[in-house]
Amino acid sequence: MSSNIIQWFPGHMAKARREATEKMHLVDVVIELVDARIPESSRNPMINEIVGNKPRIIALNKSDLADSEVTNLWLDYYESQNIPAVAIDSQHNKGLRKLQQRIQAIMADYFEKQKERGVKPRAIRLMILGIPNVGKSTLINRFVGKNQAQTGNKPGVTKAQRWLKINKDFELLDTPGILWPKFEDPNVGTKLGITGAIKDTLLYMDDLALFLLAYYQENHVDLLVNRYNVTQDDVLNNTPVDLLIKITEKMNLRDDYEAASQRIIFDYRKNNLGSVTLDKVEQVTHE
Ligand code: GDP
Repeated sequence: MSSNIIQWFPGHMAKARREATEKMHLVDVVIELVDARIPESSRNPMINEIVGNKPRIIALNKSDLADSEVTNLWLDYYESQNIPAVAIDSQHNKGLRKLQQRIQAIMADYFEKQKERGVKPRAIRLMILGIPNVGKSTLINRFVGKNQAQTGNKPGVTKAQRWLKINKDFELLDTPGILWPKFEDPNVGTKLGITGAIKDTLLYMDDLALFLLAYYQENHVDLLVNRYNVTQDDVLNNTPVDLLIKITEKMNLRDDYEAASQRIIFDYRKNNLGSVTLDKVEQVTHE
């Protein structure tokens, strides 16, 4: 995580914040994009200050990889905080219609008032905000089609904001706001690593795997049993380290724990260990 901090801190953070804030006044609604497997851990720590009073919707992306029951709990939680929230899967084009409908509902009152004053309705202007790798580009491409989203700018040339047309009802800023992740809490850093939000070269795979094993030992014993040919007893009555040693043996990797760890992490990312959400709503409601 430390290299990641160096990468972002402090100039990049200030610049990212400034850029996001500058764009804010151009848009009607902000789409805060998070990873449905770690909805809270993938939020920017200053998101509320950055968004301010601007209407916002949280889109839990990659919902195809998350536990749908837990996703629903998270949606309820955000709605209870008066933030509209929807689950989407940008990769497979799921939930995007609903996302648009919710955004229209957010703006309905405003446009109704404008209409009463004789102002013609116009397209709703959107911006996508989120930390790296949550799927901002994928969502933009889904919204507007690949060709439009390619901006073709030359390096080093500051580009003007461009509006991409989604349909007659929506326009989207062509560049998403890229914000920095939370990194004050080591568990958050680990979860960001597990889900692939941070470059693998910056991480110790065995740290990630041990965290993941401990989480499954507590919450999803059967998924480990099914995947790694270990027994319930192996899972329940071993420390994460001893369990990793056992799984490494089962993988015929002798004592290459790093390789075994890498496989476990890739299994998680590819859903070979089930669709498991790593953030629990209780974490935020019990704080
Ligand atoms: P950005 O850095 O926020 O622009 O993220 P990208 O759009 O580059 O996406 C990061 C990775 O996540 C890519 O490999 C995408 O294919 C993948 N991805 C994006 N959205 C989804 C989704 O809804 N489901 C799944 N399974 N993968 C996704």
